[in-house]
Amino acid sequence: MKLSEVGEFGLIARFAPAFLKKLPRNVVGIGDDCAVLPWTRRERLLVTTDMLVEDSHFLRKEISPRDLGDKSLAVNLSDIASMGGRPRWAFLSLGLPAGVEVEWVDEFFRGLGRAARAAGVRLVGGDTTKSPDRVVINIAVAGMVRPSRVKYRSGARVGDVIAVTGNLGDSGGGLRVLLERRRRGKDEKYLVHAHHRPRPHLDEGVWLGARTGVRAMMDVSDGIDSDLHRIMERSKCGAVVDLDRLPISAPLRRTAARSGWDPFEVAASGGEDYCLLATVAPESFEPVAAGFERRFGRRLAAIGEVRPAREGLSYRLGGRPVSLGRRGFDHFK
Ligand code: ADP
Ligand code: MG
Repeated sequence: MKLSEVGEFGLIARFAPAFLKKLPRNVVGIGDDCAVLPWTRRERLLVTTDMLVEDSHFLRKEISPRDLGDKSLAVNLSDIASMGGRPRWAFLSLGLPAGVEVEWVDEFFRGLGRAARAAGVRLVGGDTTKSPDRVVINIAVAGMVRPSRVKYRSGARVGDVIAVTGNLGDSGGGLRVLLERRRRGKDEKYLVHAHHRPRPHLDEGVWLGARTGVRAMMDVSDGIDSDLHRIMERSKCGAVVDLDRLPISAPLRRTAARSGWDPFEVAASGGEDYCLLATVAPESFEPVAAGFERRFGRRLAAIGEVRPAREGLSYRLGGRPVSLGRRGFDHFK
């Protein structure tokens, strides 16, 4: 059987159960954005790792090495934010083809250094090896969180409001601009920038982590159409999403109209938004959303509701059921 038949998540489900058996009670292993490990009496250690492979995750001809360094760290920081924690330390492993220019690597580290300083993260180790022809980047980040503030994918309950902390689809739109080789006006440049320089929602994660009304949280890496399934599996629930409530930026709307894209499809399945996806107890949503807006000057956008598991994931437009064209990103499909 080929990997493309089981898919990324089918594959993880094949090996994960064996390694989850007999884990100590104070260790949370495979299945969430980070592992949660014992640390001090007052704090838990969060650890996450993400890999970026040339031509799979980035095109070396399109992204500047500085943006690539920044983005490689940002996608890991986002996982720490999604558990309600603060990132502290990073490890970087690089696989580099021998023909890569030293100046390219210098610029990569300039971008990574900038992102690390901005987040208060120190690079404390890693590994460097030769790779046959593609650049491979693996980063692991460790951070800390108070035990009472950890948010899991498994916390959602029927009736919760589903919300996101930022616009959806800008990064996916940027990728489409690159792949379709579209002429780059101001809107297209904005989308490509969103694709190359995602901002991890670190302060938003810590803030939402401290709200007891927030029940489940994760970051949007594959697009909500895929990511909501991760919450549904862990929380044993379903979800309904109102496409007309998805926060879609004006540049994405305009570019979609010009390019013949379905803006809802880009927003729901584009991926790499790296904002946060949370479910909030219905009675807490109003105060949490009002506090969020005061603190961040932006809306916490309600996009749907948690439903019973048997309903699966469904979409509505103008209150009527609709289906979404494309599915979220899976590495092997
Ligand atoms: P994320 O996108 O937040 O990094 P995923 O949903 O892709 O997380 O991964 C699901 C879970 O599977 C995570 O807990 C991750 O650590 C775990 N995982 C993925 N690949 C492996 C692997 N090769 N070995 C061990 N755990 C893995
Ligand atoms: Mg994640």
